[in-house]
Amino acid sequence: MTYAFTPAAIPAVPVSELDLLFPVNRIYCVGQNYSDHVKEMGGDAKSGSPVFFSKPANAIVIENNSVSYPTMTNELHHEVELVVALSSGGKNIAQQDALSHVFGYAVGVDFTRRDLQAQAKKNGKPWDVAKGFDQSAPISAIKPVHNNEHISAGTIALSINGEQRQQADLAEMIWSVPEIIAELSRYYELKAGDLIFTGTPSGVSATVAGDHIKAEVAGVAELEFDLIGDV
Ligand code: MN
Repeated sequence: MTYAFTPAAIPAVPVSELDLLFPVNRIYCVGQNYSDHVKEMGGDAKSGSPVFFSKPANAIVIENNSVSYPTMTNELHHEVELVVALSSGGKNIAQQDALSHVFGYAVGVDFTRRDLQAQAKKNGKPWDVAKGFDQSAPISAIKPVHNNEHISAGTIALSINGEQRQQADLAEMIWSVPEIIAELSRYYELKAGDLIFTGTPSGVSATVAGDHIKAEVAGVAELEFDLIGDV
């Protein structure tokens, strides 16, 4: 049997230092993973388990390409996040084995239609239209792990038009990367190609068409792009 029409290309992220593309399977996201951000959103700092949601794999935007301001929102928020890229997976992964599944790390932005998310929270509805929209996941190249050197501390930051909006340290994450992988694998069978956006620190704010956004995780990657209006 042949396909009824040509299938969409597999979303993929360049790998720095190597002439390779990382093919994206799924995009998982962690909510409420830095206590200062939980507080600014009006929540309690530590709850029983991480908040998970997802985005479609084709929500990524790569290679510092510009991002179109989305429809149906007047309050687009930036959330700078450490992104974990998996080269293998499984179910019920033990915390002590979790990092062996990590291919590399990147910096990404979890764009959020905050007005729609606020309505959804208020009405007990799902977050999908607030989180999983087109071009909602700009991402840098993935830096591969060398010599089992993983990252658990260092600056994570985002600026708009040169003005600092978010700055924190990865060590402030409530749920560490091994804890996230272990817990997520209890809900989903993780696979090679999965990306995990690990949550954002405080300082989220609205961004508008015309803004120049720069995101960075020190020692991992930088990401820079323009947010543009409808063309
Ligand atoms: Mn987020």
